[in-house]
Amino acid sequence: MTSNEELRLQAEHTSMRNYRPAPMVLTRGEGRHVWDVEGTRFLDLTGGIAVLSVGHAHPRLARDIAKQSARLVHTSNLFYNDRAIELSRRIVAKTGFSRVYFGNSGTEANEALMKLSRRWHWERGHQERVEFVATHRSFHGRSMGALSVTGQSKYHLGMEPLLPGVRFVEYDDIEAMRQVVGERTAAVIVEPIQAEGGVRVPENAYLVALRQLCDERGALLMFDEVQTGYGRTGRFLCREHSGVMPDACSLAKGIAGGFPLSAMAVTLKVEGGLPPGSHASTFGGNPLACAAGLAVLDIFEEEDLVERSEVQGRYLGQHLNRLVDKSDVFVDARGRGLLRGLELADGIDPAGMIAALRKRRVLLTLAGGNVLRFVPALNVTREELDEGLAAIEDILLDPPLLQGTSS
Ligand code: PLP
Repeated sequence: MTSNEELRLQAEHTSMRNYRPAPMVLTRGEGRHVWDVEGTRFLDLTGGIAVLSVGHAHPRLARDIAKQSARLVHTSNLFYNDRAIELSRRIVAKTGFSRVYFGNSGTEANEALMKLSRRWHWERGHQERVEFVATHRSFHGRSMGALSVTGQSKYHLGMEPLLPGVRFVEYDDIEAMRQVVGERTAAVIVEPIQAEGGVRVPENAYLVALRQLCDERGALLMFDEVQTGYGRTGRFLCREHSGVMPDACSLAKGIAGGFPLSAMAVTLKVEGGLPPGSHASTFGGNPLACAAGLAVLDIFEEEDLVERSEVQGRYLGQHLNRLVDKSDVFVDARGRGLLRGLELADGIDPAGMIAALRKRRVLLTLAGGNVLRFVPALNVTREELDEGLAAIEDILLDPPLLQGTSS
């Protein structure tokens, strides 16, 4: 049998060293479980970092991807394809946006938001509106554009100079926004819940006031729903909690259940913002990815996944609150739907905690450095959540493990 260690050593020779993966090689998944190459089964509460909306190897998704791969995989944007037409129609019908542009990753969808913002103003004769306002602790991606509006300096290290004219302000602070949004602002870009930044939920009133501010000052309002969209927070889009309609939003992660696909959804107001030739993607909206996207929407309806995210998320949230009350290891629990964070107290080693959970066959990831992040598949069961919670409780009884190494 090939071992995790053998394969890991192979990877050491040929993979770029830009990641720090756990020392295990995954070969198979089913539902909310994955298996490593040695046959060990793990409960996956990372959901592939909030991507596996319908779980691993969903039979409906597997079937539709297989069918489409034998029919038409790629056309380029020189032609229409039937799967992209149908997926745009369904996203529009579900979200209230008026048009959709497809890309391949969250980063690309955010690049599209940024380019749309500038070009839309430019088309109206406002060449001075080139700046962006974003928030500290935000995460919008790693390309030079998306990185430039990402408010975490550790990701900027060694990559500067980035795009000029980006201002960062505190999240959930409308007064700070009022200080900086002005005549040169093309757009304000925010996540309706900061996910990577530590699962930070703003007041609804903040987003409402932001909408008003952007309208008053002539700036566009862009929501990054890459992580929060597609049922993750117990609504199809997170924006629904506040009722605020941004001028456009980015979608990715859960959109095709793990198949690479992303979208920018735009309102009527800005739909003419990217005229032919102004932006494009060779792979974006290919029929195979869109067939996966259609299967995901079918599964959402068949399995009532938005409602399940709300219900299971509430259950998980209650139990995380209980852990905070019960143990000094945790200082706060927050989130919506199945995007939940459990903040660790100072002195608790986050990587050690993740490693200790892994020893108990439970996979979790971090957000904001010291927050355990729960982003399982939206069809996670109560029993599976209980299993994850029990593993955490178990660790609390075993203090040496809390200081455990991250290997
Ligand atoms: N925006 C948000 C809110 C994200 O959470 C992420 C990824 O974590 C991205 C953008 C970047 O997406 P991708 O890694 O698909 O490019």
